[in-house]
Amino acid sequence: MFHLPHSGMPGAVFPALAASPAAAMLAVLHQLRLTERLPPAELEALQFRQLGELLAHASRAVPYYGPVLRAAGFRPGEPVTADLWQRLPVLTRARVQEAGAQLHARELPAGHGSVATATTSGSSGRPVTIRKSALFQFYWQCFTVRDHEWLARNLGANWMVVLRDDQRTDTGKQGPLRRMANWGGPVAAIYPTGPGLFLDYRAPAAELLAIISQERPAYLITFPSLLRELLRESQASGRRPEGLREVRTTGEALAPELRDLTMSVWGSTGTDPLSVTEVYSSAETGIIATPCREQNALHVHAEGVRLELLREDGSLCAPGEEGRVILTSLHNFAMPLIRYEIGDRAVLGAPCACGRTLPVLAAIPGRARDMLTLPDGRRRFPYYAHNTIMQIDAIVQHQVAQTARDEVEVRLVVRRPLTPAEEAHIVTAATHGLGGEHRVRIVYRSEIPRQVSGKFAEFTNEFENPPAALC
Ligand SMILES: [Zn+2]
Repeated sequence: MFHLPHSGMPGAVFPALAASPAAAMLAVLHQLRLTERLPPAELEALQFRQLGELLAHASRAVPYYGPVLRAAGFRPGEPVTADLWQRLPVLTRARVQEAGAQLHARELPAGHGSVATATTSGSSGRPVTIRKSALFQFYWQCFTVRDHEWLARNLGANWMVVLRDDQRTDTGKQGPLRRMANWGGPVAAIYPTGPGLFLDYRAPAAELLAIISQERPAYLITFPSLLRELLRESQASGRRPEGLREVRTTGEALAPELRDLTMSVWGSTGTDPLSVTEVYSSAETGIIATPCREQNALHVHAEGVRLELLREDGSLCAPGEEGRVILTSLHNFAMPLIRYEIGDRAVLGAPCACGRTLPVLAAIPGRARDMLTLPDGRRRFPYYAHNTIMQIDAIVQHQVAQTARDEVEVRLVVRRPLTPAEEAHIVTAATHGLGGEHRVRIVYRSEIPRQVSGKFAEFTNEFENPPAALC
């Protein structure tokens, strides 16, 4: 579907002459349509050219990086090669916390704009504060618009976000729904769009579902854990939203089982088939990967971020192998994070049949902080009988928490007391799923609170990462 941009020139509507900064964004998007199909080696060469600029700036203007880059053999003005890149040390989250202001640039090149700060929602209670230039945020916005392009969204339809609405300060007086004239963000700066709707999740699931059903959004954006609550409500009440084209999840990993559940509960209500998509992003780097329409494969936005997957020994993973995610944002000169280990693990996928040559992530199994610790200290992904728990309809919400080296708690919010047989079934299945080395016990709760950001972790390792004090 062709969308005609806003024109900034009186009397000139088609082809549109966009005004700044939309014009600059369209100019970048034009390049992205070409670079996403380059041979991978050619794209990497372009990445290294940009990284040469970043490294030269970092060696000059960022106190932390002067000695680090010298030690690795980098000289400003010389090309960045794969060999040099491999010699640069990985930057851990703990190192970022230690380095503090040593990672802040003393100055920025002209035009990179003002600097904003953001704090990431570290569940460890030791959050990291990130400084971002306006230029970095501009590129981030370009990738946001590219996401709309890739999925060929109908910009004239209505768009609903179900997240925490910080503009709703009085939940007693203000209803949870806020109406907006357009989709907001960068896309509405370039193109005319349909209306936008912001639904604050701080309302009962039944009320949220009633509003969604009434407003009939074509696009629904929410956290996976909220989606699960809405689907449960839909199953219980028989009420389903009609006209949905896409459910987009954000903030947490989307489990394949939740994708299937969404398709079975909400699929085929509209004339277009429903798609369920996710975005992989972080406060530190912006958008990292989003799916294509053809295969729903998660493509890395390699023109904005260099993504590496490393084995424990630091060597590169082969396709299909799971490794540590290492990220370098190409444009944030305000606080360069070079080879930053964000704490996630992922698997590199095969090239996509859509023809885009950008790297594909086959799976983002989860965050390292949400790994299960085994009694001998090794860590692994927590398989804990999720499906068994989901099959018991009396369970409204659940969370599995490791509370000691050899102990795991299954926290349940229930509609009715479970039978002894159900309890025994859960404990047996979870014990088996976790590998048989942990004591498993069931704990009942009246509710399981979300993190401050609104995110929700179905598995948390509180033994390694004690939760921050609730305020
Ligand atoms: Zn693709």
